Amino acid sequence: MNSYGHIIGGAEVPSLDGRTMESIDPYTREPWATVAMGSAADANAAVTAARQAFDSGPWPRMGYEKRQEILHRLADLMIENAEELALADTRDMGKPITQAHHDVARSAWNVRFFADHARLTAAEAYPMDSGHHAYSTFGPAGVAVAISPWNFPLMLSTWKVAPALAWGNTVVLKPAEDTPVSVTIWARLALEAGLPPGVLNVVHGFGPDSVGEALTHNPEVDRITFTGESTTGKIIGAAASKHLIPVSLELGGKGANIVFDDADIDNAVNWAIQAIFRNAGQVCLAGSRLFVQRGIHDEFMERYVRAAQAMKQGDPKDPATEFGPLASKTHFEKVTSYFDTLEADGGRVVTGGVGEGWFVDPTIIVDAPPAARVCREEIFGPVVVVQPFDTEEEVVAIANDTKYGLNAMVFTENLSRAHRVADNLNAGTVWVNCFFIRDLRAPFGGVGESGVGREGGNFSREFFTEPKAVVMQINR
Ligand code: NDP
Repeated sequence: MNSYGHIIGGAEVPSLDGRTMESIDPYTREPWATVAMGSAADANAAVTAARQAFDSGPWPRMGYEKRQEILHRLADLMIENAEELALADTRDMGKPITQAHHDVARSAWNVRFFADHARLTAAEAYPMDSGHHAYSTFGPAGVAVAISPWNFPLMLSTWKVAPALAWGNTVVLKPAEDTPVSVTIWARLALEAGLPPGVLNVVHGFGPDSVGEALTHNPEVDRITFTGESTTGKIIGAAASKHLIPVSLELGGKGANIVFDDADIDNAVNWAIQAIFRNAGQVCLAGSRLFVQRGIHDEFMERYVRAAQAMKQGDPKDPATEFGPLASKTHFEKVTSYFDTLEADGGRVVTGGVGEGWFVDPTIIVDAPPAARVCREEIFGPVVVVQPFDTEEEVVAIANDTKYGLNAMVFTENLSRAHRVADNLNAGTVWVNCFFIRDLRAPFGGVGESGVGREGGNFSREFFTEPKAVVMQINR
């Protein structure tokens, strides 16, 4: 079995108390890697390393151009090592290998994009009529803690860490304990690319009473960026508030996917499948509530059920596999618990249900009343609830009737309706006739229990920097 340590102060090290944990491959249900299991002491050692690297190391002082060069070298190394990185996520959490490769490419793009974006947005000038000149600079905030979930282990970690690094911060990253390997390989590559010691630290371990909790209570930290469940986000927000540490929280979702009568049905079916069955539905952006207008409902459903049943399940390491197991036994038990209460709640499974091992088959549920658990709670699995609707006003009201507000999708060929509905939906992102497409300059985040703050482009700059205004008199 391969073994992986923490990356602290530029070295790969065991836990201070020597403890380790195993990472389980959810397809074989056997351990495949041994990983250092950290405690509060390891977390605090990593913060100390990041603090020293920030206070007296070269990274915050070397300038944008040099940082850009090193980060591009890191992105090159990620592409060169794509197979090892992709396989790590596939084995840690069962993601089909083709999707893992997609994540690696996107992760390398995260690194390149923010390296370039930081340099291009390093300052702003504000000429003043009064004979003064004002400008602003965006200096690094300090030590950033990034806590990431297990569903996109490398991709969501790079989404947080790359902007922090590009603007000159130093970082302590804690991946989810189920998915520790890809970011460890990534941190090794970062050292190879020339990141100075202590700039990117990775500590493995659990959240509560462990590494995650220690990181969020450490007063030497200047920023906390977190992606995960809404309940965890509240705990982290409360911890950070004790030291007035700014937090960025990307949390859960219960995405509405709305298909109008005039939609291109093939396109809508294709995206509605991707929206809930890609990554076995373990996606914060999942379109887990599907609303189909009455006029095309029956035709849509016939094609949709057929497409769900045609998904190729199997070994996630096989490039032909489209659909893998759930990430862990605990998560499998959480998702399948929704089937136990379904009948009492009033819903009916059209296709899907519990599969082999830790698989849950692509599952489509109908007839569930709005109060049913499956309509209200984030299942975070391959389970979609379909409801017919009649009018635009009606569907906008039901779509907005949720505590979440991360994203929504609208399928229609009517341009005015597309804009109108996008405007009326309470969500951080609305996709029209597509899904999952991102421009990294655009804001990303959610409303309500889906999060606090936005990241992406200049929104990441606002979070990871301390903007400073300088005003000069120029015509004395
Ligand atoms: P969790 O909230 O359980 O865990 C996320 C991370 O937080 C893990 O690294 C976890 O560590 C850590 N953690 C847990 N408790 C604490 C604590 N008290 N203090 C500090 N850290 C802690 O989420 P999941 O990993 O289960 O991820 C799934 C969730 O993430 C879903 O709700 C999903 O919607 C959301 N998500 C949101 C996205 C967005 O952009 N809005 C994107 C992707 C996912 P450990 O697990 O090791 O204990």
